Amino acid sequence: MTHTIRQSVLFTKTRKDTPKDEVSKNAQLLIRAGYIHKEMAGVYSLLPLGLRTFNNVVQVIREEMDAIGGQEMIMTALQDPEVWKTSGRWEDTAVDIWFKTHLHSGEQYHEGAELGIANTHEEPLTRMLKDHISSYKDLPKFIYQFQTKFRNETRAKSGIMRTREFVMKDLYSFNTDEKSFREFYEKCAEAYLRIFNRIGIGEKTYRTFASGGSFSRFSDEFQTISDAGEDMIYINDTTGTALNKEVNTTEVIKDLGWEGVSLREERAIEVGNIFPLGTRFSDAIGLTYKNEEGEELPVVMGSYGIGPARAMGTVAEVLSDERGLVWPEEIAPFKYHLVVLDNGTEEVRKEAERLFREMESRSMSVLFDDRDVRVGEKFADSDLIGIPKRVIVSEKTLAAGEYELVTRATGATTYIREQELLDN
Ligand code: ATP
Ligand code: MG
Repeated sequence: MTHTIRQSVLFTKTRKDTPKDEVSKNAQLLIRAGYIHKEMAGVYSLLPLGLRTFNNVVQVIREEMDAIGGQEMIMTALQDPEVWKTSGRWEDTAVDIWFKTHLHSGEQYHEGAELGIANTHEEPLTRMLKDHISSYKDLPKFIYQFQTKFRNETRAKSGIMRTREFVMKDLYSFNTDEKSFREFYEKCAEAYLRIFNRIGIGEKTYRTFASGGSFSRFSDEFQTISDAGEDMIYINDTTGTALNKEVNTTEVIKDLGWEGVSLREERAIEVGNIFPLGTRFSDAIGLTYKNEEGEELPVVMGSYGIGPARAMGTVAEVLSDERGLVWPEEIAPFKYHLVVLDNGTEEVRKEAERLFREMESRSMSVLFDDRDVRVGEKFADSDLIGIPKRVIVSEKTLAAGEYELVTRATGATTYIREQELLDN
């Protein structure tokens, strides 16, 4: 990624009107600010500003997954039905969000063999690992990817938080036994909390006890409090964890030791989800290992998902204000928004160009608003785009020998000397 872009060159334009067909705040703001483009319902392209933000979220997740021993790879979106038939998940009655396609056959078009279009990767990865795992010495392994999933979602009204085509970070764990699986599972839960802290939604995000679906008795979701959420959770302020409404039964409350505890009900967005898989897939597909006694045993698995675009949309929902987006430093498309207010004054323009070159030569991350437009428009666009620090170069700042520095999140204005800015 380049460190700098001139706004006069950027192909995207901001817009004042709210897209009429968008009900979600994240999509409205991200479209207006030129981060995303809606192709059709539930399908969005990432534009330069959007891609930079998305890549920053990806990088945070990657660092935390690497830190707990994850190995990155990438699998294909086209999938072999055979392995899904083995696990019993090929039928639409088993998985209702499948997109499927056909191969050509013969010279004229006839529908040939069916192919699956990835909605998740437990089956193909489990089968692949039969080539690589045979002994307890080969375990544990933690494997992940950032890979595009396709899901025929019925509800797609949440902007980039629920789309029919989206990149998922999916990690899969492979352990010899339940105990070592559980240790990794807890490590990954901690890594998830670090990720959500780093991208700016840590304070509002709760590890949430949830249903395990068809895989196990339970799973853990990471839920961020927001009116835009689709889930209802009950927060226990003593433990700092929560419970999904779906599993709010007297039995579960008893299991958690939460009897008599007062719980706070909140609407929330599921930003991440971790699942024990047990031996559901290793049994079906035959992924086994030999233990020290030479016995053949099934590998114990888990899966761990985060949608980087859903996380990005959640940040937009939770941190934006009436003027536009507000990005935390770590994921902002740029750290500085350099805005020149030259009013036709050559000297001011020259000064801004010089400062831009200085920042560029230090590899600072800068969007330079060098456009010839009114002050009001520049500020409105800057607020909408939401870069954390705005540096203003004007006649006033030239006279003062310092630049104006505005923090987007708080609106606080200070003055900063060139050296101090460049040393940052
Ligand atoms: P949901 O319950 O929201 O439909 P899920 O439980 O089916 O999601 P998982 O298979 O657990 O989703 O996916 C792991 C993560 O991938 C989710 O926590 C979420 O961050 C992300 N994700 C899932 N579905 C979508 C989607 N349609 N669009 C964008 N991100 C998604
Ligand atoms: Mg889920």
